[in-house]
Amino acid sequence: MVSESKRSTLLIENVTVATMRQGINLLEDHSIVIQGDRIDRIVKSSNPDLKNLEVDHRINGRGKVAMPGFINTHTHFYSSFAKGLTKCEPAKNFYGVLQNLWWRLDQALTLDDVHSSAMVAMVDAIKHGTTTIIDHHSSPNAITGSLDRIEQAVIDSGLRAALCYEVSDRGGGGRADEGVRENLRFIERANMLGGHRIKSMFGLHASFTVTNHTMERIAGELDCKDVAFHLHTAEDEYDQRFTKNAYGTTVVERLARWGLLNEKTICAHGVHLSDQEIAIIAESGAAVVHNPQSNMNNAVGLCDIVKLKEGGVLVGLGTDAMTMNMMEELRIALWLQKSSRQDQAFPITEVTDLLLAGNQKIAQRIWPESLGELAPQSLADIILVDYNSITPIGSDNFLGHLIFGLSQASVDTTIASGKVLMEDKKLCFLDETAIVTKARELSTKMWERF
Ligand SMILES: [Zn+2]
Repeated sequence: MVSESKRSTLLIENVTVATMRQGINLLEDHSIVIQGDRIDRIVKSSNPDLKNLEVDHRINGRGKVAMPGFINTHTHFYSSFAKGLTKCEPAKNFYGVLQNLWWRLDQALTLDDVHSSAMVAMVDAIKHGTTTIIDHHSSPNAITGSLDRIEQAVIDSGLRAALCYEVSDRGGGGRADEGVRENLRFIERANMLGGHRIKSMFGLHASFTVTNHTMERIAGELDCKDVAFHLHTAEDEYDQRFTKNAYGTTVVERLARWGLLNEKTICAHGVHLSDQEIAIIAESGAAVVHNPQSNMNNAVGLCDIVKLKEGGVLVGLGTDAMTMNMMEELRIALWLQKSSRQDQAFPITEVTDLLLAGNQKIAQRIWPESLGELAPQSLADIILVDYNSITPIGSDNFLGHLIFGLSQASVDTTIASGKVLMEDKKLCFLDETAIVTKARELSTKMWERF
């Protein structure tokens, strides 16, 4: 288990630093001094003060680029156990994907599966340099206590995460009620824990599986304006069609009526939104998280990130469990927009902005800390990527290197809260073999129940 950092001193020497502080700022041959869980300073490697520094751990960053650990603003750890699962019938549409795969998979999960699948996701995240993760969990036959099991995995990994349980009436009112209670219980627990490793949100599946009765319960239990809600929003046209037929309104208008939209709310997907709905989201301050690979895989349509941003909506980038590799998701976000729009000149910044600025802002609403940038007093979430650039590199062309070069390079070192979690591509604390062996054993049994 990784304990909260003591005030030890870690020095990363001779590295190219991409600070990502208020834009791109590339510093060649610099050194990063980390004390405890924070960055103390970033100075030129030739700085004479470094010679007198007492260092507990020294990392040579030559040939590497240091960047802030990536932030993933929408994923599902439990989906780890779906890799290679082919037992389900092919689906004709989005609702069929949920019925045939995801709503059968989540029902088969036990609390041990929940923990094990989260551990697998933690290993993946560390290997790909993702240090802050916003998860959305579902296990209808193992609801109570599920968030504690995920919390344990997050704490043991050394990463940070915001957790919630997705409330849904699709399994009946009893399960919806249990889901509400799990969220409320865990919100209290996370508040009690304090610190900056574990945060809580309030999860709902989506408008089309949450009844007015359950909405009323949630609105009655909580002072909604202060709660960080996290739910799938207009991912497929089905969500709009169902909501219109059942409740006579649009998805976003319904969420707004129940008070679920505020500055901390995450609306995952936002593919099928009217101009009026975009205006409502912008007005509320809620964020939309784009998940390009998932949208492509489920063939639900194109999220118009440009229109959302022009409408004043904060937009981030998630993976919806397709990967923990944010640079892969970023690249694909760009290909998707270019290809769908048949626009060769589509600006790179439209997508890099989601990962580098959007996710940072979203995370800072949940963690009121300096995250997602390398600067004095920021939380020391730092990755080193193998990248001895064969072409000129600077602040002006860094984004091109990120999409076309860095995204194809290996993450060598991952540091979160000042703790080195992976160095020389080897995990420092987690026993990967044991985690994989356990996951294989449990997923085999889970697939038999599927
Ligand atoms: Zn999702």
